[in-house]
Amino acid sequence: VEAEKKSGAPPFEVPEVRFTKLFINGCFVDAVSGRTFQTRDPRSGDVIASVAEGDREDVDLAVKAARDAFDHGEWPRMSGSERGRIMTRFAELVERHADELAALESLDGGKLPAVTKAVDIGNAAGSLRYFAGAADKIHGETLKMRGQFQGCTLREPLGVAGLIIPWNFPTTMFTIKVAPALAAGCTVVVKPAEQTPLSALFLADLAKQAGIPDGVINVVPGFGPTAGAAIASHMDVDTVSFTGSTEVGRLIMEASARSNLKPVSLELGGKSPLIIFDDADLDMAVELAISANFFNKGEACVAASRVYVQESVYDRFEKKLAERMRSWVVGDPLNDPRADQGPQVDKAQYERVLSYIEHGKREGATLLTGGRPCGQKGYYIQPAVFTNVKEDMVIAKEEIFGPVMCLMKFKYVIIRA
Ligand code: ADP
Repeated sequence: VEAEKKSGAPPFEVPEVRFTKLFINGCFVDAVSGRTFQTRDPRSGDVIASVAEGDREDVDLAVKAARDAFDHGEWPRMSGSERGRIMTRFAELVERHADELAALESLDGGKLPAVTKAVDIGNAAGSLRYFAGAADKIHGETLKMRGQFQGCTLREPLGVAGLIIPWNFPTTMFTIKVAPALAAGCTVVVKPAEQTPLSALFLADLAKQAGIPDGVINVVPGFGPTAGAAIASHMDVDTVSFTGSTEVGRLIMEASARSNLKPVSLELGGKSPLIIFDDADLDMAVELAISANFFNKGEACVAASRVYVQESVYDRFEKKLAERMRSWVVGDPLNDPRADQGPQVDKAQYERVLSYIEHGKREGATLLTGGRPCGQKGYYIQPAVFTNVKEDMVIAKEEIFGPVMCLMKFKYVIIRA
């Protein structure tokens, strides 16, 4: 990716948006209500497209299609190796459309297309291949029991899986949830995030081209409290997998408990530490701190947003970091090949990050670099590095989900008993 950037590779073409409707039972359809919502380009705030807005009635239709495909269709009944073969074709199509998908993600979510192609799309194809390989290796156990009895376990698909995904890695999140469900023989209803609905619809079309039967994958773009909540509380959805905020994770578990007690899997936020000791290679430590915080503009649940540096090397580390940040480029991901960082995903997120930065200043942390909006338009933020951060400050405790690094000093003391 670095080489591609340095070579001044031609900019990725802004893709044509071909799919904006709900994908139910193998067809692109309007929402029952006829309503649409706008998805915007975070480089400018301009509207990219109007997308069909799914709600409870559309979720009902999607679940019905998934239920029929599960109860009567061929997908759960075909051999694992046949499912694997079709999923491999899906992976090949994802790879073949990597440029287009990466550019679409960039347009809808402000991601760097070269990185997205290498990381997100690469991982997406990788997940599909991995689970394609797993599809014919699902087996149970035989247990010797008392007397002449034997017990056996058989692993069976759960049924209809509801998959609710976030906006920071839309293609990767789609495939990491869809692929294992498909391998097991489940059918799915996916709700992409309202900020980034386009890639999921594009992927639905590729899945159809790959030969995944109608009704097996359904995609319902829409909002969380309407379409998302309808999936979580649906009596005919057998399991939900959710990635997103801790708050919404709680709502999903509650909705499951109130409806049919479907098992849920939740992947929620984080505030991970990066710990730098005095024997570390400081140049490398600086690079790691930067990529762990500013990769994907800090929109990552695994961001190492608390950086603890040993007292004896703190000042040197801080100086090197400030120096290195001078060459960091915030710019248009589709038109500036030098860009290290694009815009935040949308206005709400941009304002949220800036308000955390203001909060950090008010709490008494010092801005070493950045922390200001930049660019004439769009949702660009110069990445913020805070020093003198105390552990009880809000910026050190809450997940900011943006380009904000908190530096903290630690002392290493060996206590001998
Ligand atoms: P973020 O705060 O990072 O945007 P969210 O947890 O709000 O993350 O969103 C992640 C996904 O969950 C999105 O697809 C969103 O539409 C969905 N979502 C939000 N609220 C709900 C809800 N009440 N029930 C189900 N899904 C929801």
